[in-house]
Amino acid sequence: MSDAPSRTEWHFELLGGRLCLDFANTVSGIRELDPRDRLQDYAGLVSWGRQAGAVGEAQARKLLAEARRRPADAEAVFREAIQLREATYRAFLAFAQDREPRPADLDVLNAALGRALSHRRIRRGGTCCALGWDEAPGALDAVLWPVAASAAELLVSGDDLSLVRVCGLFDSHECGWLFLDETKSHTRRWCSMKDCGNKAKARRHYQRVKGGAA
Ligand SMILES: [Zn+2]
Repeated sequence: MSDAPSRTEWHFELLGGRLCLDFANTVSGIRELDPRDRLQDYAGLVSWGRQAGAVGEAQARKLLAEARRRPADAEAVFREAIQLREATYRAFLAFAQDREPRPADLDVLNAALGRALSHRRIRRGGTCCALGWDEAPGALDAVLWPVAASAAELLVSGDDLSLVRVCGLFDSHECGWLFLDETKSHTRRWCSMKDCGNKAKARRHYQRVKGGAA
């Protein structure tokens, strides 16, 4: 089936703990030094949205079909997505490092939030109602609505915002991923124990074996 996701699509790691942080983490490496951008085009954006749960399977297929009909519009939404992603990353990195976010980045988030909220809808569900999104046909930016809402919710959350961290390998210029430290002791240091945590552990071991020479 032509609308099926490509077999070669990137498998995104979703370790941030919030949708907006996972979106910010679609660049590996350090942005200023050796960025490895995992979002290359509109189809990649939809693929991320489907894997992260921002859109469902059926909606993802509709979005891809719509993008094939309107490639220039899809390209414009992709550029908007990258702008939102970078503003999101910089704003949360600033909070993780106890700095003030740039007003221009909050402006980008506010604009995205405004567009997203115009699509927010109350739906019947469960015992009463649930918040959802409308299904405006042709709305190529639907992937970005829950991202903008997630960023806004985290920014105004107070306690949760104070738990946003950047990976412990940031200072050694190896990883810039963001995550929410939801451990009881608030001592999570790595975006992933499997990758960055083990890398740091192996390095400490190596330095001990070498007598601490560095
Ligand atoms: Zn990391």
